Amino acid sequence: YHAKKKGNSYLFFNDTMNRQAVKRLQIENLMRFGLKEDHFEVYYQPKMNIRTGKLTGMEALVRFITPKKGIISPGVFIPIAEETGQIIDIGEVVLNKACRDVKKWLDDGLFNGRVAVNLSAKQFSLPDLTSRIDIILQKNALPSYFLELEITEGTVMDDPNEAINIMRSLSARGIHLAMDDFGTGYSSLAYLKQFPLNTLKVDKAFIDDMKNERGRNMVDSIVTIAHNLDLHVVAEGVEQAHQIDILKTLNCETVQGYYYSKPLSKDEFTEFLKQQQSKATPSLISSKKSN
Ligand code: C2E
Ligand code: MG
Ligand code: MG
Ligand code: MG
Repeated sequence: YHAKKKGNSYLFFNDTMNRQAVKRLQIENLMRFGLKEDHFEVYYQPKMNIRTGKLTGMEALVRFITPKKGIISPGVFIPIAEETGQIIDIGEVVLNKACRDVKKWLDDGLFNGRVAVNLSAKQFSLPDLTSRIDIILQKNALPSYFLELEITEGTVMDDPNEAINIMRSLSARGIHLAMDDFGTGYSSLAYLKQFPLNTLKVDKAFIDDMKNERGRNMVDSIVTIAHNLDLHVVAEGVEQAHQIDILKTLNCETVQGYYYSKPLSKDEFTEFLKQQQSKATPSLISSKKSN
């Protein structure tokens, strides 16, 4: 009985491994095809000023829209793309489309701020990273001022001293740098001080944990450290009104999350920008109504 059970679990294990390998290969092939056929789209999630409720920026988030398998989540395909190296080409598609869209919103007078684009570790360590970015900005006639790059602790802690050099060359171009998912990785405070960052994004896990006092103290401490280092703070994954209330008392200035909006397609985001504009300059009639 024992041997048979062992045998079964061995078979099961083997089968699961197999299915995983097949799925990975399937996604790898879908991505190769998707890169050729333009199946990668960019969605945008607003970043809002917590006090004014106005838009301050947006994050570009890739969406893999396949004709046969529907939308495949970044959580599924990004790790595979990282391993195969396809993230480099996907990342360029995202950067290119994000620059194109922001340039259009800028020219149409709908937006005048930065778009944040996620940069993977593989992209970050490309020897010609800065010239690749320069080329994309030039191609879209977008000044580097309008770009922000989000990197994670894992990306910079691999070789922190080399990371500082790369970050300096990006920062020297006027590109802003944000530390994404802050608090989930292994970055040391000693390095945090040395990185030429502009923004710290507090991971959703900490925002969720504000339910209890220790969790609130934790976010309070992170915001204080960020401000002491002259960094902006963005709270990620904010879903509820009471989280907004707490974040206000903790002096967190910027919020991103479903509470304000899910990531939107280019067209939906254009509508969002138009709504924001009409909010910013209310007509006499609508301001009378609200009195
Ligand atoms: P991230 O950069 O930390 O992006 C934030 C993620 O949180 C997004 O998931 C967003 O949709 C989600 N989110 C925002 N607000 C809320 C909320 O209130 N509740 C919940 N439950 N989720 C919220 P998404 O788009 O699935 O992306 C997941 C991750 O995939 C990103 O995390 C980022 O690490 C990676 N990713 C996405 N697009 C790109 C890309 O273009 N390049 C690279 N290298 N990575 C990307
Ligand atoms: Mg991000
Ligand atoms: Mg994040
Ligand atoms: Mg994340």
